[in-house]
Amino acid sequence: MSPTGRLTVEVGFCAVKPLRKCEVALRWGCSQYSRRYFEGQGFCFFWIGKYLNIASLRDYFKLMSHRSTQKSEEKKTVIIVGAGFAGLNTAKRLAQEESLSVILIDHKNHHLFQPLLYQVATAGLDPSDIAVPIRGEFSEDSNVTVHLAKVDAIDLEKQEVSLSNSVVNFSYDYLVLACGAQHSYFGNHQWESLAPGLKTLEQATEIRHRILSAFEKAENETDPELQKRYLNFVVVGGGPTGVELAGAIAEISRKVLVNDFKVINPALAQVFLFEAGPRVLADFHPDLSAKAKKDLETLGVTVLVNQKVENITENGVFYAGQWISSESIFWAAGVQARQIPILPPQPQDRAGRIIVESDLTLRGFPNAFVVGDMAHVSLGESKTIPGVAPAAIQMGFHVAHSIRKNTRRNFKYLDKGLMATIGKNKAVMQSPGLFIKVDGRIAWWAWLLIHVLYLVGFRNRLSVMSQWVWSYLFSKHGSRLITSSRWENT
Ligand SMILES: Cc1cc2nc3c(=O)[nH]c(=O)nc-3n(C[C@H](O)[C@H](O)[C@H](O)COP(=O)(O)OP(=O)(O)OC[C@H]3O[C@@H](n4cnc5c(N)ncnc54)[C@H](O)[C@@H]3O)c2cc1C
Repeated sequence: MSPTGRLTVEVGFCAVKPLRKCEVALRWGCSQYSRRYFEGQGFCFFWIGKYLNIASLRDYFKLMSHRSTQKSEEKKTVIIVGAGFAGLNTAKRLAQEESLSVILIDHKNHHLFQPLLYQVATAGLDPSDIAVPIRGEFSEDSNVTVHLAKVDAIDLEKQEVSLSNSVVNFSYDYLVLACGAQHSYFGNHQWESLAPGLKTLEQATEIRHRILSAFEKAENETDPELQKRYLNFVVVGGGPTGVELAGAIAEISRKVLVNDFKVINPALAQVFLFEAGPRVLADFHPDLSAKAKKDLETLGVTVLVNQKVENITENGVFYAGQWISSESIFWAAGVQARQIPILPPQPQDRAGRIIVESDLTLRGFPNAFVVGDMAHVSLGESKTIPGVAPAAIQMGFHVAHSIRKNTRRNFKYLDKGLMATIGKNKAVMQSPGLFIKVDGRIAWWAWLLIHVLYLVGFRNRLSVMSQWVWSYLFSKHGSRLITSSRWENT
């Protein structure tokens, strides 16, 4: 039902308050008679409405009739696991589909715009600027229910989903798995607490805490060796996330914090970016990779290519027989798909992504779909669809269409190109087929515009834009708060 329809109904409902008995009788009538019969009687109520000058009365009665007919029809249940780019957009496309009952399950209560996480981590934005409550996105949609729960397991044969906080399993007619990806430490799980990755708001605020605390510790320290350790920052992984994070740390230390400290000079902070391969931004054209490296170096980042971090401790990192003393180490090196036990087990690639059919279904289960970062979708010639937001959104739309129309079509990916930002007025951007290959100011403005457009929620767009304008003009970041989850009575 459209919002206007809903409003009309509400108005109608208030208007007929004096006719409460009539309404009750009508509800009863709806449940007893067929829609056709009821519509036949509609004119009678319409004239009552006209007589009482209640124009929307007829619409109201029509809706009551429609609702009762719907109730008697069997609704199909769609369970969507994960409200990231893929899951949220699937649910949005199914939200007006009255013949479907949609259950959206996520273990967080918010949808997160991950591409701007690094700005929360470096005090450029607040957490609430890049996240929206999932419930709020569907408060107008009567056929969508939202559950805050972690999905533990899936049984494809029984068509059931089990949740961590419920003993009752949920049954489905259609399943959409959209749980995204998580960090991979390549078997070194002990590194996780020493070098947090950047995937969730909790991790972003923890990184912000570590960065800002490091400057505070350095300000209070008299031992030059320790002071140096506090002012060394290490980022592991030279993909877009690592490049953006390293660039942003260098930039805040040189432009934002530089006047705030009296003992230390924050501009002397050293940022090291490790990349195991021969160049940063390996998915980009080599010219753009080279440009990004140069921009990083201009900002003061030491870029170490062909260098693997061999060990991480509380006090620093080892690589190629050398040691960098640091307490602020951040991980942006590897991702793997989120793992949920599925029965029967499904084939996966090396990154743990589930290998799906070309229509995004699981082999032998045409009612179960996997989308977004969790899906391995082949593009031929040993290429797969990359783990980026546009791909996840397109997959979400595709699956919603397949469910609505009950069809199965091959998924066609529309490549929208790549972009990454390094710092103020510094970014790289390339279109599919490399028709456009831009860097510098133009790419940076394009990056800003596109990220604002993709953000969910008008409030967030406005807030992010105003904060960007503020920091662009005054080089000030408003979110320089050191917060902790631990507290004590004072
Ligand atoms: C730091 C960073 C920067 C990025 N920058 C860009 C960029 O600039 N451009 C770009 O295109 N892409 C970027 N990406 C990639 C992009 O964000 C992902 O490709 C996209 O988020 C994938 O969408 P998804 O829906 O598959 O997964 P996600 O968006 O990760 O959503 C998965 C959802 O599933 C939920 N979930 C997971 N497990 C469970 C469970 N067991 N039970 C219930 N719920 C569960 C999670 O809470 C989450 O809400 C970036 C990613 C990161 C981390």
